[in-house]
Amino acid sequence: MAAVCIALFACGCARQTLRDMPITITPKAEQPSPALTSIPEASPVGRFTPPPEMQECTVACDDAVNLRDGASSHAELIGTVEEGARVRVIEFQERYAYVEVLASGQKGYMVAGYLQPATDVFGLDVVSITDAYSYDQMREDMRALTEIYGETIKIVIAGESANGLELPVMVLGNPQAPHHVFVQAAIHAREHMTALLAMALSEAWLKAGASQEVCFHVMPMANPDGIQISQGLVYDLHIQQIQASDAAAAGEQPDETEYLREWKANYNGVDLNRNFDALWEKVEASTSPSSEGYRGTAPESEPETQALVSYTKSRDFDATISYHATGSMIYWQFGDATQADRAAYALAKVIGELSGYSIEPDDGTSFGGYKDWASSKCGIPSLTIEIGTRSAPLPETDFYNIWMRNRFVFRTVAEWVKNA
Ligand SMILES: [Zn+2]
Repeated sequence: MAAVCIALFACGCARQTLRDMPITITPKAEQPSPALTSIPEASPVGRFTPPPEMQECTVACDDAVNLRDGASSHAELIGTVEEGARVRVIEFQERYAYVEVLASGQKGYMVAGYLQPATDVFGLDVVSITDAYSYDQMREDMRALTEIYGETIKIVIAGESANGLELPVMVLGNPQAPHHVFVQAAIHAREHMTALLAMALSEAWLKAGASQEVCFHVMPMANPDGIQISQGLVYDLHIQQIQASDAAAAGEQPDETEYLREWKANYNGVDLNRNFDALWEKVEASTSPSSEGYRGTAPESEPETQALVSYTKSRDFDATISYHATGSMIYWQFGDATQADRAAYALAKVIGELSGYSIEPDDGTSFGGYKDWASSKCGIPSLTIEIGTRSAPLPETDFYNIWMRNRFVFRTVAEWVKNA
């Protein structure tokens, strides 16, 4: 827990809270400590049961997968399931699924990434599931959604990336709605499956009729240049120079393919989620442009950060959601819990129950993130949702588990902001 004592500057956001109550951001030291005793350190490991009509899967692998008596690679091996076998998912437990093999009735745990849903559980007409969802595909899908859903979706360009790509935001539903929620994804390049998820959730939301009362603003790719680097689409002299500098710092030449695949920063080698004005001075790690961990020369030095800041300030958002990839958990807090953080905790509990993701308090080691800034400087209840369990980029086969856990997140957030 960060027991730091800092003076927060007055919020430049000129916004009001969910209930039109003015939020006063006072220095953390002066703020009465909330009843954190009622908040657990971390909730138990998330479990999740898919609905019955979405439980049947086919095992997709080269040969066979192991069946164990527990959700761990150390659990006892009790059998194998062959490629093509039909199974019923009884429960997801982190990256494992507790399944019943339909032919034999045997039950056990297998790695969920080998499961292919037997029916179309996504129900999408435009967005296709892939592990390499690209910027160009996103723009094409946005155009297609605009054609199908007309006035219910508007595309707003929030700014431009360091390497000159537009940063589109989809405004879904009624722009004059009394409530607004901002969703941003893929600020970390290699976590580009979150962009696919944001697009898929947006299509599902439009298909369900969107909402007159809660308008969603979705920026699926907050870091499109970084995504293009991670997907092997951009590799120029500028990136090669950062690569050489990282290699010199590490004292060894990294495997080039892996280095690029795992790229996290923007085109300038800045970790955008360490570039926000939220205890930015405490961000450590790299001191120069790098594939990950460099905070930049100043808070909001990057055009992507500036675009997120100005869009967030452009209206009174009731909540923000930041989608990240690794951890299967929800972060809601920044330092000592503020009023916005306490509201975010209530939302985190609802989404935690829905998704099976664990709810994590701030361990006091991470600064300069978008969520940190939106809650501490703008007073907006803000969550970071980590969708997967293994290191990014996530494989396509993980999307079934991720979709099951997230497909009603917009609906749940909408209900929450209406009633908060
Ligand atoms: Zn991330």
